[in-house]
Amino acid sequence: MHRPPTSAAGSAPRKRPVVRRKPEIQVPEPVDAASQHDRPVSLGSLLEQISGYLTDADLQQIRGAYRFADAAHLGQYRASGEPYISHPVAVAEICADWKLDSQALMAALLHDTAEDKGITQAELVEHFGSTVATLCYGLTKLDKIHFSSREENQAESFRKMLLAMARDIRVILVKLADRLHNMRTLDAMAAEKRRRIATETMEIYAPIAYRLGLNQVYRELQDLGFRHSHPMRYAVLSQALRVARGNRRDLVDRILAATTKSFGDAGIKVQLYGREKTLYSIYRKMQRKHRSFAHVQDIFGFRVIVPEVLDCYRALGVLHAQYKPMPGKFEDFIAIPKLNGYQSLHTTLIGPTGAPVEFQIRTEAMHRVAESGVAAHWLYKTGADAVTQATTSAWLQSLLDIQNENRDAAEFLETVKVDLAPDAVYVFTPKSRILALPRGATPVDFSYAVHTDLGNQTVAAKVNGELVPLRTELHSGDVVEIVTAPHSRPNPNWLGFVRTGRARSKIRHALKVSQQTESQDLGRRLLARALVHQGLRLEELDTADWARLLHWSGNRSQDELFGDIGLGKRVADIVAARVRLLDTAADDASAAPPPRGALQLDGSEGASVHYASCCRPIPGDAVLGYLGKGEGLTVHLQDCPQARRLFQKHPHSWIDLSWSSPMSGLYPAALVVVVNNGKGVLARLAAAVSEHDADIVHVTMDDDSSQPTIELRFLLAVRDRKHLADILRAIRVHKFVVRAYRGKPRA
Ligand code: MN
Repeated sequence: MHRPPTSAAGSAPRKRPVVRRKPEIQVPEPVDAASQHDRPVSLGSLLEQISGYLTDADLQQIRGAYRFADAAHLGQYRASGEPYISHPVAVAEICADWKLDSQALMAALLHDTAEDKGITQAELVEHFGSTVATLCYGLTKLDKIHFSSREENQAESFRKMLLAMARDIRVILVKLADRLHNMRTLDAMAAEKRRRIATETMEIYAPIAYRLGLNQVYRELQDLGFRHSHPMRYAVLSQALRVARGNRRDLVDRILAATTKSFGDAGIKVQLYGREKTLYSIYRKMQRKHRSFAHVQDIFGFRVIVPEVLDCYRALGVLHAQYKPMPGKFEDFIAIPKLNGYQSLHTTLIGPTGAPVEFQIRTEAMHRVAESGVAAHWLYKTGADAVTQATTSAWLQSLLDIQNENRDAAEFLETVKVDLAPDAVYVFTPKSRILALPRGATPVDFSYAVHTDLGNQTVAAKVNGELVPLRTELHSGDVVEIVTAPHSRPNPNWLGFVRTGRARSKIRHALKVSQQTESQDLGRRLLARALVHQGLRLEELDTADWARLLHWSGNRSQDELFGDIGLGKRVADIVAARVRLLDTAADDASAAPPPRGALQLDGSEGASVHYASCCRPIPGDAVLGYLGKGEGLTVHLQDCPQARRLFQKHPHSWIDLSWSSPMSGLYPAALVVVVNNGKGVLARLAAAVSEHDADIVHVTMDDDSSQPTIELRFLLAVRDRKHLADILRAIRVHKFVVRAYRGKPRA
């Protein structure tokens, strides 16, 4: 891998040859993945490398882990023909490059023993302690026999790994080292397997490396992934780059000489590096801009490293004075760091030949974070950069949140993939606070990112002062203002467009809670009504009554019992009868069967009451309620054929219902309109509907063109029967209307 210029310890024998110009200026050799990583791998070289920063006792333990792994993998070979042990040793060497501790190095050496050689976790605990065993276990794929498909196994294995990572970040660092070595040695694999592993790397592991700020690993994984998923394109592009490299050498030298002089004149101390962009980033640019290689000119860039933050801006001034900057290409990632903590100034200048050249300007500390992210903590033994630490732990926490709300592993994986997308948009709160959100994020994602309560109470959004639909995609620079209402609740439809895992899991949670309170409300009303039939009143039940009742029902609280009744898991009449039996004082009261009264609906029931889609009842209709087990209450028309069938099967699950007046809310009603075909018919019907303040939810028509008439079937959102009757009257006025009537219940 490419090393940061400051990490020379113990690496001299394996260091890639670099062309040294002046002491402070170096131009790296081209990226060539095939030959770059052929370093000799052995226990000796590993121990030599780690003796630079670990104690003798650590070395002793690591030797032990090596011997254990070597014995376990004895007789096992890699696809390349090498003894298998060469792989765990290479993984441990990569971890040693990051100066990880001895436990992580031991886990690196042992990581494949459990999966391939059937070593149990208990054995690992016994030999190496529970921390090392837990690290290894987090890295092990799940047993294949439990899954019906590879996708399912993959999704569950990822979930397990990501959760282990959230508890101990070393799990993912070892995993990334493992994946990096496998990618570097992928040539030995069959083409199909190569493509699959390469795709998985680009979708999951490269983005994780990016999110953790391991930018070197990110670039290398992407480049190798590109090479193995698109071998032909990679080969062609790599040849083109070889040619271009020769042609640009002069240009690079000229720019280096000129800018070195200017920085010297200005008295700014800089380290200046020429850098070549990776093939993959060049390829992405060609795709994005639909250009051929010949037209992608900025394949070289420069990195300027300065001592202090203020020097960054001074260096920028020097560069802008020397070459004209390209408009719109300046970005200040120092003031607004990227999601993974990356900080730098970026600017693109028009070079001496007219070709654009990108400069990245940053301090030494920013550079460490930019290259190594969370690994910088181990690499430099600094307290690690605060921004990276904070964003990493926030991300890990959000993984746990997503996990808590997603039972399904495949959905979890999808959600994480979106969260990992490296593209971000930067938007502002009305008080100019900056928030970074994944590309495609909406005002709902924004409000949940600010605060859960804000998200839950969102009713509308203004972007740059204009009201917009909540599904609007946000763009960098947008000022987003959320309009709230104190008693509003998240809309289930939001789940269809939010991008962030955080918003998704918070919406799910809020819906679950509000559904609970709604069914508890309904349950309380059902029980109160049933108690009246027993000559009792809910409010008069005392603590002793409740204790007896809850003991009988097995519920932990009144609310839980109400919830069970509201969801139809318990029948209110039976609970009420039980209250009477348990209430010894009421024993002598008359046991005559009570007259039955109806439960009154008022429209506030929310998700605990459903309106059946077979008959579409609306307020004013004669209706009945069906309490299905666990489904809450479903309202049917009294003469609905489906309801009649259900009644025969479950005669005891029905209750009488009445409507309060007025009812709140809108209710879907079916409407059939037969018209003579003609221009503008639908528009005039739609106008009639909206003049009466109703909404068209849905419309379908039969398109049998041989018929002189067509039948339109509407689903309207109306207040009640009178409202629907008014609309029908307004529709029948039109001459082209042959017939108009309310849709009959589906049989
Ligand atoms: Mn491995």
